[in-house]
Amino acid sequence: MNLTWMLERSARTFPHTQAIVSDLGTLDYSQLLSASRRAAAVFQAAGVSAGDRVGVMTYNTPAFAIAAFGLWRAGATLVPINHKFTAHEVGYVAAHAGLRLIVTDEDLAPRAREGAPSARILTTTDDASGEFDQLVATSEEWDGVEVEPDAIAQVLYTSGTTSSPKGCLHSHAGLANVPAYTTAAVGLRRDDRFLIAMPIWHASPLNNWFLSMIYLGGTVVLLKEYHPVGFLETIQKHGVTAFFGAPIAYLAPLKVLPTVGASLADFDLSSVRLWAYGGAPLGAETVSLLESAYGSDCFYQVYGMSEMGPVGAALYPSEQRVRAGSIGAGGMPGVDIRVVGADASDVAGGEVGELWMRSATRMIGYLDAPEATEAAFVGDWYRTGDLARLDEDGYLYIVDRLKDVVISGGENVYSPEVEDALRAHPSITDSAVIGRPHPEWGETVVAVLEAADDVLLDDVREFLADRLARYKIPRELIVREALPRTPSGKIMKHVLRAELVDA
Ligand code: ATP
Ligand code: MG
Repeated sequence: MNLTWMLERSARTFPHTQAIVSDLGTLDYSQLLSASRRAAAVFQAAGVSAGDRVGVMTYNTPAFAIAAFGLWRAGATLVPINHKFTAHEVGYVAAHAGLRLIVTDEDLAPRAREGAPSARILTTTDDASGEFDQLVATSEEWDGVEVEPDAIAQVLYTSGTTSSPKGCLHSHAGLANVPAYTTAAVGLRRDDRFLIAMPIWHASPLNNWFLSMIYLGGTVVLLKEYHPVGFLETIQKHGVTAFFGAPIAYLAPLKVLPTVGASLADFDLSSVRLWAYGGAPLGAETVSLLESAYGSDCFYQVYGMSEMGPVGAALYPSEQRVRAGSIGAGGMPGVDIRVVGADASDVAGGEVGELWMRSATRMIGYLDAPEATEAAFVGDWYRTGDLARLDEDGYLYIVDRLKDVVISGGENVYSPEVEDALRAHPSITDSAVIGRPHPEWGETVVAVLEAADDVLLDDVREFLADRLARYKIPRELIVREALPRTPSGKIMKHVLRAELVDA
């Protein structure tokens, strides 16, 4: 199996079904297939050979889809690049991945040119008048090369939540399983219209959702860039049936709409049957807040990471209430899991250990980082770096990242538990809990809050006292207008630590 077959199959079977819908243009399957064949010819003419890596740095645009499938058809490797990267960060990826060609939006091109001065830059624009768009429009179609299953299809950079992004090497054969696992886990359908509003260059939007829709022959609705109001308007305008977002994508409208005199009720969201969230933890309190805002019995939680394709686990809407806080029973179909202690044997039921996973979707390794690759695997098993426990019925709970646990007075404080309690406070949108070294306690708990200016910290302390044991209650509460986030919405605690603890 390789990724080009997915598109070919859908184009053969459903040529006139909409593959990509967006305000920048709409393509049915036969048009997407033909554009990708022309893009393959453009890449070949630009000197791209099988096995070469090419950067694609765009917003969520049809050009991204055309470039990705064009590269795969040409036997080349897609290197999606974060469109929010500075020139310096683009330079890091370009050098690390050895990029000699980058396809990018015209307004991102200055950063690409500055960061990767020796790479050729092909631009795309909203009105399809960029050099890449023009070349694709005028090329002949090319059948491409025969792609071996173990050829590298993508270098996926991790979010950079805990340190610099690492490049995960994924083969066609491995990634080709991601849509099957995802579809089985959350029940996507061919008649779904899936909205991609989170950055498409990121692991989950790209492989769980974009590829799954292509695999099924369904429709991808692209919103160029997430915006708390634009996201709701797009759902209404395009009859979106399914959406995946980081928790902040759901929380932001609840905060922003009242400030513009609007509310969720002003939007017709009735077409949506599946809301999925993931990428970062969301506790029971926040889930019930979202359910009362967006509708109950349609929230799926998904868990996974770039290294695994991403796949991992999924919790069904009907399980949200009875298994609050869990990421689902076992792993997704096709994913095998273990919860492992320091001695590398399975921990006893209910105990916390590191989550290990294996599946056919796992990466080959990190690009140019043999030591990190070696440390990431034990045989077939990938060490996720996440701490988890399994309940007696096999439901998995992520309790924290190994790196984020705060150990205070010998007690483990799992930061997501405290963050969830804080988010339940009406004046707090989001929070990040970190540890501050302390001579006596080891560490003390510090919470940084994204909160209204007039939040009363004594009131927050009192609020927490009803919900958390004393040792979990932050000694320090710090209010910030905004928390430092990765473009996919995750809070970068290492940035907070550098600023508040290491300084
Ligand atoms: P980096 O590896 O560069 O520090 P990252 O781990 O955030 O960044 P990703 O691969 O995008 O990069 O994210 C995977 C991680 O996100 C998981 O290991 C886990 O810690 C977290 N995560 C993903 N989904 C969930 C979820 N549903 N609940 C809790 N945590 C989640
Ligand atoms: Mg990671």
